[in-house]
Amino acid sequence: MSPRWQLIPLVGAAVACLAGPTHAERAVFPAASGTAITTTQKPGAALGRFDAGRALSHVRHLAGRIGVRVRATPAEHKGQRYVRRRLRTLGYHVFVQEFGVDGGTSRNVVAMWPGAKRYPVVVGAHIDTVAGSPGANDNASGVAVMLEVARLVAGRHQARWVKFVSFGSEEYGANGRHHLGSEEFVSRLGSRGRTRLAGMVSVDMVADGRPLIVGTAGLGPRIVSYSFLHKARKVGIRADYRTTCDCSDNGPFELAGIPAAFIWSGPEPDYHSPSDVPTNLSKRDLWRSGRAVRAFVRALDRKTIRHFRSEG
Ligand SMILES: [Zn+2]
Repeated sequence: MSPRWQLIPLVGAAVACLAGPTHAERAVFPAASGTAITTTQKPGAALGRFDAGRALSHVRHLAGRIGVRVRATPAEHKGQRYVRRRLRTLGYHVFVQEFGVDGGTSRNVVAMWPGAKRYPVVVGAHIDTVAGSPGANDNASGVAVMLEVARLVAGRHQARWVKFVSFGSEEYGANGRHHLGSEEFVSRLGSRGRTRLAGMVSVDMVADGRPLIVGTAGLGPRIVSYSFLHKARKVGIRADYRTTCDCSDNGPFELAGIPAAFIWSGPEPDYHSPSDVPTNLSKRDLWRSGRAVRAFVRALDRKTIRHFRSEG
């Protein structure tokens, strides 16, 4: 999550978002070849349980072993390599979007199941941190939830309807701009993709604080956030709706008219500080947030996707 949203003129951000890539681009496609989805599962078929222990091990790797992951640095790259490895191991097709920022290279890691829809719902989380903070809650927690849900969904019916993205460069950097990875992703969708993409969920800072906050930046359609809220409450999770700042990766999606939601556990004392370490997380809150994302993804099917698009 990046806080200084008020310094960025929204019109300028919209132009940057829709004007197309301005940086050198290179997409790296893996050699891995998966098989098309052959599952005959019915929509809503049971997924495995969200394993908070597994999620926490991702947090420990990213925030503990790798540590501070400032955008366009080798540490951010290291984090993205870890995510790419995990997703490939699960059987996803994974590719990397590179873009130039702050004199270096930052990356998005994008995973889709072989045979999945081209413009499904994106579940994303940012990997980078501010300088000096290991970013356990902000945002190894979001990446960990994404990875664990990707594990649950792999090979299941729901894998057709979701794309998992680990974004680079969400935090502010030397050029005074933020959520550049998500801007890059939205820009590369092209006009058709921006019309067709059904929705987006940004999982950002989700393991420290209650109740769970499901919001939007107030810039785009709210259908995905309302759906998320409904699904979370249905599985007994206390969640509140809030219109927040344009301070996470949902912002560029909303600006492009794509229904997007910001999943957040609220302000916490270790925010952007050296004390944002794995031991200061709440495993219970990580588990709660993971179950909420799982509930949302579990309900994805053709009808839901159509509904999101019709409201977008
Ligand atoms: Zn942040």
